[in-house]
Amino acid sequence: MINHFTFLVVITCLLGATTLRSQSVNIVAAENFYGGVAAQVAGTSAKVTSIMSNPNQDPHEFQTDAATAKAVANADIVIYSGIGYDTWMEKLIASQAKTGRIVIKVSDLIGAKEGDNPHIWYDPRTMPALVARLASVLNKPDAVPRFSKAMRPLFEEMAKLQPKAQGVKVTATEPVFGYMATALGFEMLNYGFQLAVMNDTDPSFRQTANFEKSLTTKNARILFCNSQVSNPVTQRMKDLAKNSGIPVVGVTETQPADAKTYVQWMLSQLAAVDAALK
Ligand SMILES: [Zn+2]
Repeated sequence: MINHFTFLVVITCLLGATTLRSQSVNIVAAENFYGGVAAQVAGTSAKVTSIMSNPNQDPHEFQTDAATAKAVANADIVIYSGIGYDTWMEKLIASQAKTGRIVIKVSDLIGAKEGDNPHIWYDPRTMPALVARLASVLNKPDAVPRFSKAMRPLFEEMAKLQPKAQGVKVTATEPVFGYMATALGFEMLNYGFQLAVMNDTDPSFRQTANFEKSLTTKNARILFCNSQVSNPVTQRMKDLAKNSGIPVVGVTETQPADAKTYVQWMLSQLAAVDAALK
């Protein structure tokens, strides 16, 4: 009996210790699409906090606050995009040294560099790379095949769209959808204009004139708009597109509340692209 009792106590302590250790894994993601994928990998073994998830906010103009600083200070794993998208996170990490903290800069995982389009989560290679890294850090090897199965509908939908999108000229008010557009085979017009809008500067007269021309002459078949950033310039382009009968597809920087997963989010946007191509 005593042996049994001792055994039970030891087991209970071991279980308690394991649970405690698992629960204490704090993951902080700069953006909710990384946080969502991290939660898919970690399951119940971690607490995931996403900093940017407000669909009405322009992430390029995000300012940190005390709550964000505290979340990062307590994080065991920090995930951020890098290449200029979330420099506020780099500053927080640098100002709050913590031993043993694991920092995952997602752009590094796919070899994206400063100056590249920062919206790398629209690149279909990005999330599988993040999952592989997280699976190794969290020691969850089964997450890799599970996630690649979850990604399959997205790759299938892309394969269906590729023949229709190949070489089709499109344009956008911002480079949000850029990587996915390229992966689908679209030819993206007016990149300079998009960078200016992204950086909250005025596009040049020539960039604006060329943009308008691509809409009025129907050279562009779709106008992609960032639903999270609206200003008189983007509104004018939307109006021009509508007047020219060019479909406007709204895309978002962060994952909207009605999309349960990254794959669902991407699939709903691809459905809008498919409808626009008809
Ligand atoms: Zn953006």
